[in-house]
Amino acid sequence: LRKKLIAGNWKMNKTVPEAATLAQEIAAELGRVTDVDIVVCPPFTALETVGKAIEGTTIKLGAQNMHPEAGGAYTGEISAPMIRSLFATHVILGHSERRAYFGETDAFINKKVLAALTNQLRPILCVGETLAEREAGSTLKVVQTQTEGALAGVTAEQVNNVVVAYEPVWAIGTGKVATTEQAQEVHAFIRQLLTKLYGETVAQKIRILYGGSMKPSNAPQLLTQKDIDGGLIGGAALEARSFVELVSAAA
Ligand code: 13P
Repeated sequence: LRKKLIAGNWKMNKTVPEAATLAQEIAAELGRVTDVDIVVCPPFTALETVGKAIEGTTIKLGAQNMHPEAGGAYTGEISAPMIRSLFATHVILGHSERRAYFGETDAFINKKVLAALTNQLRPILCVGETLAEREAGSTLKVVQTQTEGALAGVTAEQVNNVVVAYEPVWAIGTGKVATTEQAQEVHAFIRQLLTKLYGETVAQKIRILYGGSMKPSNAPQLLTQKDIDGGLIGGAALEARSFVELVSAAA
């Protein structure tokens, strides 16, 4: 019903030559895959190079962040039209590292989501609780606030182009993956919330990815859960071998 999506978030890794090598390896192995959607999200500096390496393949290109304005005096920032001009189709928004280290609020992330959609970029919207929030029993409340905040003003027609990624902060880069039950519980909750906001038909089509220490060994279990439609991968996306195995696990 929902095609699985495997997205690699390279974060602040890979120089341009390193990115070219990885992209070429991925393109050679996965360039004809059609039963799983694949997106690679290199740093801004490597978008053009990676875009060329995957040109003519089924692999899609995404950025890791963007500014909500189309242009202007925002030193150091990158806009949606700039990203679009490099033939990227996706953009990661609201990643927990952006929220934690760069002070991004739900209101600011909402502006970005709306700007991405206006510019034909598909947002990969990240939500997730910290360890303290989970221990305080507020996981679902946090995820609800983040999801509703980011999607304010997004119409049912637009939301078809949104991918949600549930990334529990305590599982990111820690090797501590969420159990399948923990992940499925939150994914089901997000889908219920999307159903409330947009109706059943629309909500059933939206992909909800899991992110946080996903690797070839734990992916098969996670990916067989009813509401887990793929993965947003950090560390294991930095090497072609593990990324290829993750795509195989989703097929
Ligand atoms: P890791 O896979 O390295 O835990 O990172 C997950 C993530 O933050 C993807 O956006």
